[in-house]
This record gives sequence, structure tokens and C-alpha cells, in this order.
Amino acid sequence: MSLVTRFAPSPTGRLHVGNIRTALVCWLAARAEGGRFLLRLDDTDQARSSEAHVKAIRADLAWLGLHPDGEVRQSARAALYEAAFDRLRAAGRVYPAYESEQELALKRKVALGRGLPPLYDRAALRLSAADHARFAAEGVAPHWRFRLDPAPIAWDDLVRGPQRFDGAALSDPVVRRADGSWLYLLPSVIDDGEMGITHVVRGEDHVSNTAIQLQMFEALGLALPRFAHMALLTGADGKLSKRKDAVGIAALREAGIEPQTLLALLARLGTSEPVVPVARIADLVPGFAFGQLGRAPARFDPAELAQLNAKTLHLLPYEMVAARLPADMDAAGWAAIRPNVERIEDAAGWWAIVTAGPAPVSLDPVDRAFCAQAADLAAAIGWDEAPWAALTAALKTATGRKGRSLFLPLRLALTGRDHGPDMAALLPLIGREASIARLRAAGMTDGAAAPI
Ligand code: GLU
Repeated sequence: MSLVTRFAPSPTGRLHVGNIRTALVCWLAARAEGGRFLLRLDDTDQARSSEAHVKAIRADLAWLGLHPDGEVRQSARAALYEAAFDRLRAAGRVYPAYESEQELALKRKVALGRGLPPLYDRAALRLSAADHARFAAEGVAPHWRFRLDPAPIAWDDLVRGPQRFDGAALSDPVVRRADGSWLYLLPSVIDDGEMGITHVVRGEDHVSNTAIQLQMFEALGLALPRFAHMALLTGADGKLSKRKDAVGIAALREAGIEPQTLLALLARLGTSEPVVPVARIADLVPGFAFGQLGRAPARFDPAELAQLNAKTLHLLPYEMVAARLPADMDAAGWAAIRPNVERIEDAAGWWAIVTAGPAPVSLDPVDRAFCAQAADLAAAIGWDEAPWAALTAALKTATGRKGRSLFLPLRLALTGRDHGPDMAALLPLIGREASIARLRAAGMTDGAAAPI
């Protein structure tokens, strides 16, 4: 039986690093086993879900390269839930209850006051047919609870190891509201069963839901999936804050973070494996195992992304970035400039320097003379092969300069900057005529005339 995972976001907001990590682990597990990765949109909460967020989630997954092998939407599956609900009702596993929020709050208060856990007291199970008829006559519709079996519940979690709960210590959860709408717990189980999900991967905030949902799987006669509850992410200093930390996918994209960068970091967070930049996210798949995921909270530091982004870009071949580079920038241009970019946008700045030249540079008189001499020599050397080596060798012989005093005035004259891509790679791109002109201009001017 092949492995099937699902990523089940509620379309009530954009994706952020926490749920992207869940999606990634679902995707990695499926790809590592030749299985399937499905998207399930948990949009039963009509008031909070929006079509714009559905579209944004699809677009964000596409941008990340986490392409689902299929998609379902909970809002389109009411008939399925209704049929399962009818079966549970016939079996006495769901029951109607009428308490208002205020009554329930009071019951909880009383229980806590007596030093008891605030469990629902199942008063609704003791209602008579006449009581139900009276509520119906008064127009009070019931909400519905799932009746838990007061038995031990256990599973072997793929991340957390053996887990134990006592069914008697849990409150019968409300699964359906009085207006007929569904809460999360039951539709999720029905879907996981119907979609053939073999591995439920989600955050550890769902651990106690799993205890309840396992009984729902059993009550519906559905095969039990395996569960992997991932430790939560924390921020650089404590809890991850959506407000303070740049954790939303939109903010990360705008900051120029590549999808490979984000996924390479998230794939290794909370594991003992080293973070390594990758050109393609498929490179993250070999060796994936749930066992690598630790139980301790994983620390997400956005500062790590910037460095990793540069390393990622330095791996990317021209074909993968061409569409996002200046139109006239060719493979040689990318090869020369790539080592100096931290964000893909940086390439345009360097390319403008190559093609249009720097702003006027002003050098001291000694360096001006040196650049004038460099212009003459640049006109004399052969340009077919390694012109930078030829030019600097000729200048070294002619002037005795070496090291910084040899290279820096040339770099300034040719690029306007004191650091940047390898000049040996840049010079052929700037070309003979423009190089001579720039050196000549730097040799003549203290900044008054613009080089060509
Ligand atoms: N929509 C739920 C959530 O976002 C899904 C939980 C699950 O994976 O079962 O928390």
C-alpha cells in the first residue's frame, strides 16, 4: 500500500512557516516513498474561509514547488459527512445536546470548584423522549456530541513515540453545531478515511485531537492512519510571532527568499541533520525519515535565511533563473555575477554596471594617471582570451604596482565599486571598447565627465 499524506490548511489566512513546514514534511514523506501528497482545504467554517485565501494557498504551494497530486474541499463534501453522521447516530455514537454556552460555562465552573476536571457531564444522554420533544416544540435545535468510549487510547507516534490517553478523562466533543455546520474533528476523520490517507502529519497542538479521532476512525470502521505530530516552531527568542517575525510567505517572498532556501531550512529544522542549500527541492527528498524529526521545539531564525539564500542562488543554473533576470543578461553574465548576489534582484544592479557603466568615479591624480596608462594598454592587448590577466600583467610590468594598488583603481574605474564579481569574468562582458572608454574617462576626470 503506497503512502498517502495530506496537507489540510484552513483557508482563513496566508501560509506561514509553521504550516509550510507541515506541508513540506507531507510532501517529502510522499516523494520519498513514491506515494501521493494531497491538498485538503478545510473550509467548513464559511464565515472565516475565503476564496481569496484558497487561491493564495494554491499559488503559494505552486511557488514553493510543493505540487499536490490532488485536491479536495471540505465545503463540497457535505453529503459524505451526512452519511457518516447518520451511521454514527444510528450506532448511538453521536447524541443531541441542548446546553447553551452559558450553561456549559457554569457546569465547568462548578466542576472546577469541586476539584474535578471540567468534563461534559453527559446530562443530554439522560434526556427523555418527552424532553427532546419539548425542545423541538420550543424550536431549540440540538448540537451534537461524539460519545467517547471510556477506554485507554494508544498509538505509536512517528515523531513522539508511544502516546497514551484515557477515554474516560476526555470530554465528549461537539462535532456539529445547532445550525448543522461541522466542527473540525469529524469531517477530518471522514476525509482521511475516504481519501485513503496513510500518514497524518500535523503540529503537536493536535495530539489530544488524535486521541478523540482514533475513536472516530474505529466507530466508522475506517483503517487507522499513522500519525506524526511535529514539534512546534519557535522564534529566535521564544514563541514565533506572526506579527514580529517575518514568517508569512508573502513577506519572505518580498524579501527575495527563494523557495528552495525556505524549504531547505525548514526541512532540517528540529532535526540533527545539517542545513544544506539545494538547487532543486527534489534534492531534499533522499534520506527523509520521520525519525529525524525531534520532539523538542524547533527554532526558526529568519536571519539564517539570508545567508542560505545567497548559497542557494550560487547553485542555481542560468536556465532556472533566466526569466527573472534582465532580458539581455546571458548565461555568461549570470555565471559572472551569481557569486555576488544575495537576492536575485541584486543581479540587475550588477548587470546595469556591466552594460551601462558606473556613475562617474573620482580618483586621486596618481590613480588617474595609472588609469590613463591602463586605457592605453587595454587598447594594445589581445582581447580574445583572458583580457584581465593580460591587462594586469602588462600594467604590473609597466608600473611595478601589484595587489590592491594594481587592482582597486581598475575595479573602481570599470565598475564604480570597490568590491564585486571577479574582474576576470566581468571584463569580457564589459567588452573592449567600453573598458577602454571607462579607463580613459577615469584617467581624465576627477568625476566631472561620465564614462561611457
Ligand atoms: N485544518 C486543520 C488545521 O489547520 C487541519 C489539522 C489536520 O491536519 O488534521 O489545523
